[in-house]
Amino acid sequence: MDQLLAQIEQYKKEIEASVVTNKEELEAFRIKYLGTKGLMKSIMGEMKNVPVDQKKEAGQMLNEFKVFTESFFETLSANIGSTESTAASSSIDTTLPGQPLPLGTRHPISIVQNKIISIFQRLGFSVAEGPEIEDDWHNFTALNLPENHPARDMQDTFYISQNPDWLLRTHTSSVQIREMEKNELPLRIICPGRVYRNETISARAHCFFNQVEGLYIAENVSFADLKQTLYFFVKEMFGQDVKIRFRPSYFPFTEPSAEMDISCLICGGEGCSVCKRTGWVEILGCGMVHPSVLDNCGIDSNKYTGFAFGLGIERITMLSYQVKDLRLFSENDVRFLKQFTQA
Ligand SMILES: [Zn+2]
Repeated sequence: MDQLLAQIEQYKKEIEASVVTNKEELEAFRIKYLGTKGLMKSIMGEMKNVPVDQKKEAGQMLNEFKVFTESFFETLSANIGSTESTAASSSIDTTLPGQPLPLGTRHPISIVQNKIISIFQRLGFSVAEGPEIEDDWHNFTALNLPENHPARDMQDTFYISQNPDWLLRTHTSSVQIREMEKNELPLRIICPGRVYRNETISARAHCFFNQVEGLYIAENVSFADLKQTLYFFVKEMFGQDVKIRFRPSYFPFTEPSAEMDISCLICGGEGCSVCKRTGWVEILGCGMVHPSVLDNCGIDSNKYTGFAFGLGIERITMLSYQVKDLRLFSENDVRFLKQFTQA
């Protein structure tokens, strides 16, 4: 067995050192190694001397050697072919047009995300990004969600078992914290990105989805600024006729907090199954940044104020294109995806 291996190694070196410059030499190579009385035949014959328990291994070894020799021969013959004659290539008509490659389409989530980003960029917001694996401080504690806070249950997520301080971020608010900690004010950013929640997957919920959050911090920022900004966004996104309304809500990181509805795009406010007969559809949460959050990031909450908002891109996409099932976005079904060709 060892002897066989040594022999093969020896032959491999010999083959690799072979120099072939014309067809005669190529043929000589073929006869020597691959011919009916060639080396390959004789070395294959060695198989009968190999003990039964080693036959499998030896067979594999010989097979690899055979493939090696044959492909080496192919390479040699291709080299000879290209130097000796180009007659074969003249049968290819290089003036024929190529095969067209099918163009892909942008993913609907990307289309909507880009549209949202471009609207806010026109208002002077810049894009900020951060890690999807976060630590507890940036995802929860700095946002006024200390350990054992009941609101943490609303955002159950996935923890990294080797380090329970690490988790998959539940919102892109963690990026806002990272930006605020840089203390470069005024701050006007939007944070798009993927977020995670430990949710049962259904037509309306998934364990991951995409968000865009916004943050504006400066002196004398008021709720009126928040309203005007979101009003502009909604008109640009959904059209001039869409109405908005704010409902009081609660988030630990904003005070006061609100949820914003738009008039139903399907029925125009008359009431239908999408808006559950109310005429309104909830699209985002928002509020004035809680002073404790500013303090946590080293920003003087007596001097500065700010507003923040967050919305789910899937929800906006479902409304915009009347997609009924959230799971379609992550199933990679080309029949679904190729319907979004306008990008
Ligand atoms: Zn409706």
